[in-house]
Amino acid sequence: MISTSTDIKPFDVGAIRKEFPVLERKVKGKDLVYFDNAATAQKPQVVIDALVNYYHQYNANIHRGIHSLAEEATAAFEATRDTVKEFINARYREEIIFTRGVTEGVNLVAATYGRQNIKEGDEIIISGMEHHSNIVPWQMLCLEKKAKLKIIPVDDNGELMMSEFQKLISPKTKLVSIVHASNSLGTINPVKEIIDIAHQYNIVVLVDGAQSSVHLDIDVQDMDCDFFVLSSHKIYGPTGVGVLYGKKELLEEMPPYMGGGEMIKEVTFDKTTYNELPYKFEAGTPNIADTVAFKAALDFVNEVGKDNIRKHEEMLTKYAMDKLLKIDGVRLIGTAKHKTSVVSFIVEGMHPQDMGILLDNYGIAVRTGHHCCQPLMNRFEIPGTVRASFAMYNTKEEVDELVKGVEKAIKLLK
Ligand code: PMP
Repeated sequence: MISTSTDIKPFDVGAIRKEFPVLERKVKGKDLVYFDNAATAQKPQVVIDALVNYYHQYNANIHRGIHSLAEEATAAFEATRDTVKEFINARYREEIIFTRGVTEGVNLVAATYGRQNIKEGDEIIISGMEHHSNIVPWQMLCLEKKAKLKIIPVDDNGELMMSEFQKLISPKTKLVSIVHASNSLGTINPVKEIIDIAHQYNIVVLVDGAQSSVHLDIDVQDMDCDFFVLSSHKIYGPTGVGVLYGKKELLEEMPPYMGGGEMIKEVTFDKTTYNELPYKFEAGTPNIADTVAFKAALDFVNEVGKDNIRKHEEMLTKYAMDKLLKIDGVRLIGTAKHKTSVVSFIVEGMHPQDMGILLDNYGIAVRTGHHCCQPLMNRFEIPGTVRASFAMYNTKEEVDELVKGVEKAIKLLK
């Protein structure tokens, strides 16, 4: 029987945990404590069911089929587009382009909008807390176009130095690409203010929503970003699916990213005309099953309620930070006023990786290392951090386990 609804009443973490089968498992003989949610979130049963149901019942290629299965698959695929549109409050459904994830979204914009609009001597601004996915595509573009990458610095709390941002803007600035919430520090950046300032100079802004879209209410119209990218797997959905939102007028002017089936209107050996939005950017058979199941994840989040989730995660974050700070030798990295549920820390005289290995022995999954933010780690002059990141299904008791584990590890290694 495929469940389509989750029966979840006002926030009840016990009931929520029951929706996530993986939370039942043991690791190294201990109950799993999964604190690697910023890397990828676990999947509720409804998402797994949606995936299985697609392959059981209506696997077919989409859009051009006239048989029943193709129509059902197309309807389910396109229903996800409508749900995403609502989830981020886009104006038009054709502004929702399916990708493989944030990385592909940023690369798409760099390779199309970027190649079309960035000229020699132009400048692109990013920040010092970007994920490599929001650094490297722009570096590649700058190399190709002889353009310049400029960086908004980060202060000791892990906040953007906004006064410096203003100073970086010049008549040559063509694009700003900025992370909404940092994956390694949790910092929530003032993207609305950044967009406001950038637009005063006609600068286009891309927002990396990899971490924000699961925790914060996203309203791309209110934010007024030109592009917004997200990954399904961070929002309790399957891997291999993501979204590029772009303002329609920009997407229409942009050349296609990849050529192939689906993105064409007509092909002759002399010339090809391109399909309309959003299909112009969706060449080839897409990841149908995972896109279909992504809708179940968004419905699930909506049903639990982002406000409920946020309150719970904020409670866990504060609880964890307070408790970890009481441990001798622990230093928190990233103490911004506005944060998502990420707690990054280092322990004096201990490599983060050693801590991660020991915690895994206690059944606790954290991430250690540079979190694909090497320039940010260099800024703090550290090799990396231990990062615990919380989701709707985590509990205070699990945080207690983490704290005990850290204390035990320190005793063992010091
Ligand atoms: N940006 C940020 C802030 C991220 O946290 C991540 C994923 N860790 C990415 C970009 C890249 O996302 P993906 O690997 O899903 O493409």
